[in-house]
Amino acid sequence: MSGVAVIGAGPAGLMAAEVLSAAGAQVDVYDAMPSAGRKFLLAGKGGLNLTHSEPFEVFASRYGARRPQLEPLLRQFDAQALREWAQGLGVDTFVGTSGRVFPAEMKAAPLLRAWLHRLRAAGVRFHMRHRFLGWTAGGALRFATPAGESEEATGAVVLALGGASWPRLGSDGAWAALLQERGVPVAPLLPANCGFDVRNGWSEHFASRFAGQPFKSVAIRFGPFHRQGEFVATATGVEGSLVYAVSALLRDEVLANGLATFELDLLPARSAAQVLAEVAHPRGSRSLSSHLKSRLKLDAIKLALLHELLSKEELHDPTRLAAAIKALPVTVAAPRPVAEAISTAGGVCFEALDENQMLRAMPGVFCAGEMLDWEAPTGGYLLTACFATGRSAAQGVLRWRRPN
Ligand SMILES: Cc1cc2nc3c(=O)[nH]c(=O)nc-3n(C[C@H](O)[C@H](O)[C@H](O)COP(=O)(O)OP(=O)(O)OC[C@H]3O[C@@H](n4cnc5c(N)ncnc54)[C@H](O)[C@@H]3O)c2cc1C
Repeated sequence: MSGVAVIGAGPAGLMAAEVLSAAGAQVDVYDAMPSAGRKFLLAGKGGLNLTHSEPFEVFASRYGARRPQLEPLLRQFDAQALREWAQGLGVDTFVGTSGRVFPAEMKAAPLLRAWLHRLRAAGVRFHMRHRFLGWTAGGALRFATPAGESEEATGAVVLALGGASWPRLGSDGAWAALLQERGVPVAPLLPANCGFDVRNGWSEHFASRFAGQPFKSVAIRFGPFHRQGEFVATATGVEGSLVYAVSALLRDEVLANGLATFELDLLPARSAAQVLAEVAHPRGSRSLSSHLKSRLKLDAIKLALLHELLSKEELHDPTRLAAAIKALPVTVAAPRPVAEAISTAGGVCFEALDENQMLRAMPGVFCAGEMLDWEAPTGGYLLTACFATGRSAAQGVLRWRRPN
């Protein structure tokens, strides 16, 4: 069988290379960066949440509107298959208390090292510092390399170019224009699992004292979303796990209406009646802040947020203050830029792909990974779908080349 090019040496591209190579194809992997898997390695800094151990039905629901497209691929390469695959590379995994699955060492580097070693041993060739520029008039692949521009003729190519977050790690979304020029529908690349700027920003006082500080044991309610967790104040707004979890809903609301307001419960462990009773308790000569601190154990950042967002009248009206402690409206005006996000929504539309994950507009060109138009929360869902779509794109190449 003749050669296949895989462009993008992230989890999706490397998985495609592995499947193609195992089927006997000569595989050439190209990547703009000096080494493979930079974003994968960064994910390793957070412990490398590879996948999730929850039941498949729940797992598949995490992909929201794209569940119908992704579920068949995930059934072929689910959380258990991913764990077995990691074990095949000598990396044991464990299920954390939240149900999330991590490598025993909580790092990406050992897994990536073993994987690259196995791929090279199987004959996969790596061409780093090769930035894909598009196609020549004759259909060859164009790359910018340290030695100048090069052209590579190829039969089939798997594009696994990633999203547009953290562009310094290699994935900058520049491919979107290249494909759109060729008639491929691409949904706008948007931040996913991202932070937000609050309306009008924080006051100088709040930003200088509390940027980087956590809100612990709080709950966010927004439409159907209601969850307890933690997040962090930034210089201009909010970020962190609980905000990421609601970010797709907030982002879509901001896109539709310019603003989104969520309710923040500063004391989810206490009922509204308990909070009101404590707030209304006579405070004598104590300041409001020390009263709330001693009766409700509100810490400095929570007190500061109440002062930041409530009027004097609201602060000094026990009923309204107690209601705000349980449901403080926080209005965000913009998601942070996609470059800062954990992942990217939007990308190559599934309608652009045939049953082999090949672009209908570009025969012989297949797509995989985060560059496809799906999104998911954090929890290992991103990597699992990147692996699964990399695998199925490679199977698509094999079917396309051997139609029967
Ligand atoms: C801080 C952080 C933490 C994360 N933690 C987790 C986690 O714990 N669990 C999880 O499931 N997900 C996590 N993710 C998300 C996960 O890392 C990505 O979803 C995943 O890496 C995407 O895989 P991919 O192969 O599609 O793209 P990428 O990993 O982005 O790889 C794409 C490759 O294509 C190359 N490329 C792009 N354009 C070109 C071009 N023009 N020419 C040549 N090469 C090009 C890039 O250099 C890159 O190597 C995290 C992301 C971030 C930013």
